[in-house]
Amino acid sequence: MSVTRTGPLPTGEASEYDVVVVGAGVVGSAIARALARYPLRIALMEAANDVGDGTSKANTAILHTGFDAAPGTLEARLVREGHRLLGAYAREAGIPVEPLGALLVAWDEEQRATLPRLAEKAERNGHRTTRLLGATELAAREPHLGPGALGALEVPGESVICPWTTTLAYATQAVRSGVDLHLNCRVEKVRPGDPYHRLVTRRGVLRTRLLVNACGLHADAFDALVGREDFTVTPRRGQLLVFDKFARDLVRHILLPVPGALGKGVLISPTVYGNVMLGPTAEDLDDKTATGTTAEGLAGLREQGGRILPALLDEEVTAVYAGLRAATGQEDYRIAAHPALRYVTVGGIRSTGLTASLAIAEHVLGLLADCGLDPGPARPLAPVRMPNLGEAFPRPYRDAELIARDPEFGTIVCHCERVTRGEIRAALVSTIPPGGLDGLRRRTRARGGRCQGHHCGAEVRALFEEGPREGRSAGRYGKGAP
Ligand SMILES: Cc1cc2nc3c(=O)[nH]c(=O)nc-3n(C[C@H](O)[C@H](O)[C@H](O)COP(=O)(O)OP(=O)(O)OC[C@H]3O[C@@H](n4cnc5c(N)ncnc54)[C@H](O)[C@@H]3O)c2cc1C
Repeated sequence: MSVTRTGPLPTGEASEYDVVVVGAGVVGSAIARALARYPLRIALMEAANDVGDGTSKANTAILHTGFDAAPGTLEARLVREGHRLLGAYAREAGIPVEPLGALLVAWDEEQRATLPRLAEKAERNGHRTTRLLGATELAAREPHLGPGALGALEVPGESVICPWTTTLAYATQAVRSGVDLHLNCRVEKVRPGDPYHRLVTRRGVLRTRLLVNACGLHADAFDALVGREDFTVTPRRGQLLVFDKFARDLVRHILLPVPGALGKGVLISPTVYGNVMLGPTAEDLDDKTATGTTAEGLAGLREQGGRILPALLDEEVTAVYAGLRAATGQEDYRIAAHPALRYVTVGGIRSTGLTASLAIAEHVLGLLADCGLDPGPARPLAPVRMPNLGEAFPRPYRDAELIARDPEFGTIVCHCERVTRGEIRAALVSTIPPGGLDGLRRRTRARGGRCQGHHCGAEVRALFEEGPREGRSAGRYGKGAP
């Protein structure tokens, strides 16, 4: 197992793999983890300097039940299975999840009339626990809702999750189970061959018998490298506002809109970090790098959010961000095996990929078998227990036993998010250390709070630049620490 970020890639036999997965977002990392159960040589290659640095870091972080998926689609099945698999995995790996449940709020008669149809659709998707609420019960359940809410469909099981820890847990477990992770390693050319395809990067060439495209927004461009043109990815931008922790008491459930033509619409949801999120927009663009926010987009969100939860607009905004969904003009994923090429495309993973990731990975294992992979006997994965970033679970600064073992876990560096020096040090010596300050934030929450690093930024940077200290290991965090 190894993680590389710089320098030439391995050569000779060390450059030969049974399967290479390209793209270390939540989907590619889940696939690499699934493959790591078998006695195979696996590599995960990523263009960015960290895992989960694409769409996987910038979404609305809902673990969906799939109640509103188009029945009968691959997406509907994989979201339903993924919800179950990731729920169980999160408990095992320490990924924060809060099963708050969702309320789909109707604001006019047309929307109210739609709710029973949505309940029927949920039933066709295997969800029999939805329930219609009248205006009075809805007001009691969500006292801060704006005037005019007529009723809601309650969807138990919809949950909020930490998207950063999810990708990191998959990739960490994959690496600890023997997968080679090559970061800063964009695959620029593919030279198909038999028995090996050659993957050309600026750091050298890797060879692989089978190849998986998990390139997210760039899945179409990667397909073109192997001579396929099956779909085009259109980035659909979603802008979001994150409100301060003082807003958290305003909302108890995930408040979903009745879906419209452009997807799931604008929601208001608590986050596992104790904030409240409003968004996302849905804008079809041409530019796959357009992850900036716009004054117009944010103003539109505030207008819609003000109707749903008026008091939210009095709260301070901690951060704004945008993510790009990989839309392909088809209301389903674009996952396909190409046995003649020993190649699997995992494209069009639109607005549900976080939820479905583990089920997508299992599905891809089956497709790789169709392409000729004989994985051999499965073995247990190396256990992994991730540092907790969730407010609903014990954090290190409150853990007297941990602090007694290592006082640095009682020394707060980032006061807004209560991140300790011990957590930062542990992240720096973890299996996949952060490649920069943003990566460190995704592992610890440092610099992610209301001051956005104004107070702690210099100290966090100094710790990052100082790097791992002699003799330290993440093991001080506890058993199975990454
Ligand atoms: C606004 C928004 C809200 C969302 N909300 C939710 C939600 O609430 N719940 C949910 O389940 N899902 C949600 N999603 C969807 C979810 O975020 C995505 O489906 C998921 O992150 C896609 O993961 P991925 O691994 O396919 O793509 P990515 O995370 O984009 O990963 C692809 C990776 O491939 C790399 N790459 C590309 N080309 C190459 C190359 N040639 N060589 C090497 N590496 C390459 C990229 O650098 C990137 O890191 C949302 C998405 C958005 C945008």
